[in-house]
Amino acid sequence: MPLALVILGRQGSGTGTQAALLAEHYGVVHVSTGDMLRAAVTAGTELGLRAKAAMDAGNLVSDDIMIGIVDERLAADDISTRGVLLDGFPRTTAQADALAEILGGSGPDLAINLDVPIAEATERMLGRGRDDDNEEAISRRLELYEAETAPLLDWFEARGRLTVVDGLGTEDEVFARLSAAVGALP
Ligand code: AMP
Repeated sequence: MPLALVILGRQGSGTGTQAALLAEHYGVVHVSTGDMLRAAVTAGTELGLRAKAAMDAGNLVSDDIMIGIVDERLAADDISTRGVLLDGFPRTTAQADALAEILGGSGPDLAINLDVPIAEATERMLGRGRDDDNEEAISRRLELYEAETAPLLDWFEARGRLTVVDGLGTEDEVFARLSAAVGALP
């Protein structure tokens, strides 16, 4: 398996933008579970129907559904040739355990936590005006992030795979920090 990277960060931390830039720079496939779910909702598929209510409320879609989607996506040829940058997955430690198994035991090469303080992340989300970006869903998602996703940082840290990157600054500044972190991989 070539490079497998994970980008973490509370919503509004800029992971989507930076993940797209990084994936292009390193030639790996950008897999955003949020984008996949939104596409399924738009297409009105069975998956979309099952995921929509949770997404609208700012809740997490169930681990079973998410692990199934990612397992299937990572089995595709483009990923075994080019590697992957996961954006939005894992979001729970159960998803991280499943990911390690999917990738063959040791898990991704590196998880980057793009660190942006809550106040700044909230401002950015209110500014982007996505369908599910009402104030209630935003605060619900930030709350869930602390409860469910923050333990992931410990999960990766315990395996020596975590690096924290300051997400404040211009797009270029943040990208330079991120590519330095990836470039430092052995
Ligand atoms: P995102 O674009 O990553 O902010 O994801 C948008 C929404 O999709 C989230 O608020 C969740 O409802 C759902 N979602 C995306 N990825 C996951 C995941 N790994 N686990 C559970 N829910 C997810």
